[in-house]
Amino acid sequence: MHTMDEWIHKRGEITPERMAIIGESHQFTYQELSQKVEEMAWMFKSKLHIGKGDRLAILSQNREEYMIAYFAVAQLGAIIVPLNVRLTAAELAFQVNDSGAKALLYEQEMEALYEELSDLANFENAYFFSELIGKAQGDVGHHGKSDDPFIICYTSGTTGKPKGAVLTQENMFWNAINNQHALDLTSDDRTLVILPLFHIGGVGLFALPTLLTGGTMLIPRAFDPEQVIEWIEQYQITVVMGVPTIHNSIRQSPSFEKADFKSVRWFYSGGAPCPKELIQAYLDRGLRFGQGFGMTETAPTVFMIAKEDCERKAGSIGKPVTFCDVRLMKEDGTPAQPGEVGELLIRGPNVMKEYWGLPDETASTIRDGWLYSGDLARQDDEGFFYIAGRKKDMIISGGENIYPLEVEQHINEFREVSEVAVIGVADDKWGEVPVAFVSFHRTQSLQKDDIQAYCRQRLARYKVPKDVIIMSELPKNATGKIDKKAIHKHWMTLGVSES
Ligand code: ATP
Repeated sequence: MHTMDEWIHKRGEITPERMAIIGESHQFTYQELSQKVEEMAWMFKSKLHIGKGDRLAILSQNREEYMIAYFAVAQLGAIIVPLNVRLTAAELAFQVNDSGAKALLYEQEMEALYEELSDLANFENAYFFSELIGKAQGDVGHHGKSDDPFIICYTSGTTGKPKGAVLTQENMFWNAINNQHALDLTSDDRTLVILPLFHIGGVGLFALPTLLTGGTMLIPRAFDPEQVIEWIEQYQITVVMGVPTIHNSIRQSPSFEKADFKSVRWFYSGGAPCPKELIQAYLDRGLRFGQGFGMTETAPTVFMIAKEDCERKAGSIGKPVTFCDVRLMKEDGTPAQPGEVGELLIRGPNVMKEYWGLPDETASTIRDGWLYSGDLARQDDEGFFYIAGRKKDMIISGGENIYPLEVEQHINEFREVSEVAVIGVADDKWGEVPVAFVSFHRTQSLQKDDIQAYCRQRLARYKVPKDVIIMSELPKNATGKIDKKAIHKHWMTLGVSES
């Protein structure tokens, strides 16, 4: 199998004039991209002394050079450690030190964070992207192999200390193929990469699949709904991918109703549960809106709904992608039957090699070749999958299991509700009880009693939120996903229940 840099150099030969990347500052054709990759690899080697197996950390928002860096690292057989720019210096230092990064590459805009980080982290040298531009003075060669570790991507650590998922070049290759198949990508596609490139969602979806296919990826620096709509119209974007909160912001943008979305053949949501009401808002606008499922450890895509099923099966994550197998396993170790909830197990060439430096965690997560996702799902009679929640989020109240997602889906049925998260909080009598955190669209007349009364009519008593906390906005992580850890912290600051 070819390595990632080989694809891009090959593309530079096959379709040299075609546009590969359009960003806010630069545009690169495939030929230019190939040349830039060669030049950056040379700089990494000669200035940063990066070689096979070395770790290079990157601290940057989305920019064209970030993509070049991915390929340059691949060419050297080195390992990239993409850092989340929204973390604190102490959190970043953990990842830099844990990965043993030899060098750090950062953008000028991150200088203040870099200064703080440099006091806490041990790397040999650090450079701005702008300092690494120059002609290659010799042949860099190709040092990468398909099974080389290529990215160490730290999970957000909802479950404890962040773990570095080690993804190989091969993992990224197969993920790109899987996405190409699932999204019917062609070289005519112009995809909008809104998710950060430091997150697997940005690089694995859609950057690499687009470039492997010979399409054009468009890469704004950060997410702004008005800019997204402008770019869709200006560049005739064909595929837009985001987490649900991104699609919600686009939908709420004043230009949404009037915008010209004719070029878009697919809005795609993944990374977190997508409310049916949000899907319906896109469908009502005459747009195709589909869901998929992925995780860092699987590079990321595991499921994607086919375009012909988007409307009929709205709410489903579809079926597993071409080169990836799944199983649903009940707590007693037997397979879940259609309709039954089980833990999602995943196997395929897109499944990570290991957690960096954590052999015990790796062994407990990957058993007999299957990755135990910690996510709960069920399948219908036609083989479509639905996410039921996360094992670690499950609330046990008086011995009864409550899937927060089930409660969230009901609360989401209110048109006034913009975002909702249900968490379990400690309770003397029941052990845990559910509490809902809700934010509203601009105007609202809903009271928390209305929400509780609505749930009472539809859910067993123990599932009805014992309290509803109204917030102007729910806290999010860097990808834009609702951050339940931060919501737990918020709850602790509220002290006694307000009900
Ligand atoms: P951590 O792994 O540290 O807890 P995280 O949840 O942000 O952090 P990611 O790898 O970014 O980790 O996200 C993967 C998770 O996102 C999945 O395990 C699943 O819980 C959730 N997820 C992804 N897609 C969907 C979807 N379509 N519907 C519901 N949940 C989803």
